[in-house]
Parts: sequence; structure tokens; C-alpha cells
Amino acid sequence: MPRRFGIAAMAMELMESLLVQKPATVIYPVERLEPPERFRGRLRFNPDECSLCGLCQRDCPADVIKVVRKRVEKEDGTKELTGHLEFEMDRCVFCGQCAQSCRKGAITFTHEFELAQPSRELFMMDTRTEDTADEECDVDEDTVP
Ligand code: SF4
Ligand code: SF4
Repeated sequence: MPRRFGIAAMAMELMESLLVQKPATVIYPVERLEPPERFRGRLRFNPDECSLCGLCQRDCPADVIKVVRKRVEKEDGTKELTGHLEFEMDRCVFCGQCAQSCRKGAITFTHEFELAQPSRELFMMDTRTEDTADEECDVDEDTVP
């Protein structure tokens, strides 16, 4: 087979190699690639692990998180700290700082990346539960300074 020289030959060789290579892209959404292990997708909050310390609110650069703490007086006269977190997820830049700051591991990230919503309200994440509902926690409400 005769040897090819010059730019034309290099272009031909490139074309040939591209023809036998698999494409780097996939036909999304029919085909899907698994995100890398440390990919930060949808944020997940675990209220059972949260101590309401407020570090995530303090360190979030996008002002996404509000930690609402309430002291509730119990029947025996002692006070118990309770509360919840509110996330304005449309502001989140997925920097991961909240998960880094949380010493309890209460904030993690999933691999979910299809997060579009038709309205801003749907990005609001309020972690209030029956135990932390306003009517039960109306004593001495404050948020983290
Ligand atoms: S990932 Fe970053 S921007 Fe999003 S809530 Fe956490 S600290 Fe804030
Ligand atoms: S840093 Fe962690 S434990 Fe502290 S309030 Fe935030 S989620 Fe809860």
C-alpha cells in the first residue's frame, strides 16, 4: 500500500480513526451516562441527624439555608430544642460547602441532575415535620445569627 504524505494524508488518517472510534456523547435521554462518584446533584437532608447547630446556614455562600430553632417547654418544665431547615434550592450553586460544614453528615448529595421545575415555589424545601410544626413550637422562636 502506497504511503501517504502531507496534510491531506494526515486528514485522511484522522478521518479513518474517527470512523472506527465510539462517539464520546450518548443519545440523551434515551441513553444515560452514570455521573462521577463525587458528582453533586439533588441535595438530601436527613432531619434525624441534624442538631440544628446552624453551621450550614453560616457557611452557605448563596444564602440558601435557613435554620429555624425553637425552644419548646415540656410538661415537666424543662425546655427542648426543636426546629427545622428551609432551603431555597433555586439559589443553590452546588458548591458542597454545607455538606463539608455539617459535622453530623445530615446533608449529602445524590446523583440526580434533572432538577428543572416550572416555578420557583417548587424549589423551596421545607423540612418541617409534625414534631416541628409551628403550632407545637410557638415558644421562643429564633433563627441562627
Ligand atoms: S451546596 Fe453550596 S450553595 Fe448549595 S446549599 Fe450547600 S452551601 Fe449553599
Ligand atoms: S450543619 Fe448539619 S447539623 Fe448543623 S444545622 Fe446544618 S444540617 Fe443540621
